[in-house]
Amino acid sequence: MRRITDNWPPKKSEEPDTALFENKGVAPLPSVNPYVKNFFKKKQKELTAQECLKGIFAGNTSILGRAITLVESSLAEDRVIAKQIIVGCQEHMRKSKMKTMRIGITGVPGAGKSTFIEAFGGYITSGGHKLAVLTIDPTSERSKGSILGDKTRMETLANDPKAFIRPSPTGGSLGGVSRKTRETIVLCEAAGYDVVFIETVGVGQSETVVHSMSDFFLLLMLSGAGDDLQGIKRGIMEMSDLIAITKADGSNAEKAEGAKALYAGALHLFPPTDSGWVPTAVTSSAVTKKGLPEILKKIEEYFKLVKKNGYYEYRRREQAKYWMYESIDEELRNKFYDNPAIAEALQKYESKVLAGKVDSFLAAEKLLELYKEQEETQSSGFTKERK
Ligand code: GDP
Repeated sequence: MRRITDNWPPKKSEEPDTALFENKGVAPLPSVNPYVKNFFKKKQKELTAQECLKGIFAGNTSILGRAITLVESSLAEDRVIAKQIIVGCQEHMRKSKMKTMRIGITGVPGAGKSTFIEAFGGYITSGGHKLAVLTIDPTSERSKGSILGDKTRMETLANDPKAFIRPSPTGGSLGGVSRKTRETIVLCEAAGYDVVFIETVGVGQSETVVHSMSDFFLLLMLSGAGDDLQGIKRGIMEMSDLIAITKADGSNAEKAEGAKALYAGALHLFPPTDSGWVPTAVTSSAVTKKGLPEILKKIEEYFKLVKKNGYYEYRRREQAKYWMYESIDEELRNKFYDNPAIAEALQKYESKVLAGKVDSFLAAEKLLELYKEQEETQSSGFTKERK
């Protein structure tokens, strides 16, 4: 097969004979106003952790956005400031005693998540709450295009002064993305957002991650999708505190009522929840706004119950414990894979394992041994330096 590079560069005498060659084109014109270029070049002044915290506590969304960017960064110097910001925000929340509501929302693509969040979010902010909407989109990494982020979503809510929308960073492992989302929740709460929606697309493991960082879990379902439960795993239904059948309007209204009864029945078959809450199903429409007051009522009832019976605090602490282990795992994994000697050896062992020359367990053992040696050399280097 002929490749583009076979003929490249073309000989002067010879015209390229394939449409895959590009004409040389013309050089770009010089900038009309060179000052404009310099203006855009000017770097924003970097903020200290104290400046970020001051801005966040004052509810300054531009500073909040910049602080979240620091939290999302994997640069070592950004991580240092990010940690100070997170700790500062956590302390602020402890002192304020504000009891925030973290609501996980999931559903298959097309279930109506963004339309629902737009309508329900507006309903919540008009009731006096400040709402932050964060998304975890596991599809963005795999498909290089995201299910949640590609379209213009939630335009009205984006212009609502009481709402703050932040899509999760694309790329990186689910573990990394979820760590960043969890830290972002803390920053948003410190900025006065008492309700946080954490949205994810219900097609993989991200629902479990979202569940592990929310107090209440809302599953959005379409009616009339049959018994296959729309690819939603049984486990996801089991961890839901409320199922809302979406698009219950027009000719779909009746079908939605049928689905509601079906899911309500299915929920009864699950064992009782630890929180003492009895999950139910409702119908809703983002178009007619039907069901939105009922959903808010259910959420408020839930929080009243769990704050009273202590489950709210218990669950938050359990989640904190879970995230402590997750952070350790992530830190260790990053340290291992970021080590240059390991990166080199990994390639070697990977091809050996693939060629069937080395057993996988043995390869793992050798790599871990190498890592241990690396760590030891590094720490003895430090000791020498200190002396
Ligand atoms: P997502 O992929 O889960 O975020 O789903 P979208 O919010 O993008 O909705 C998918 C489609 O369903 C869009 O064409 C919406 O206009 C439509 N839709 C969403 N909610 C409703 C609703 O309550 N009623 C009706 N009739 N259509 C809706």
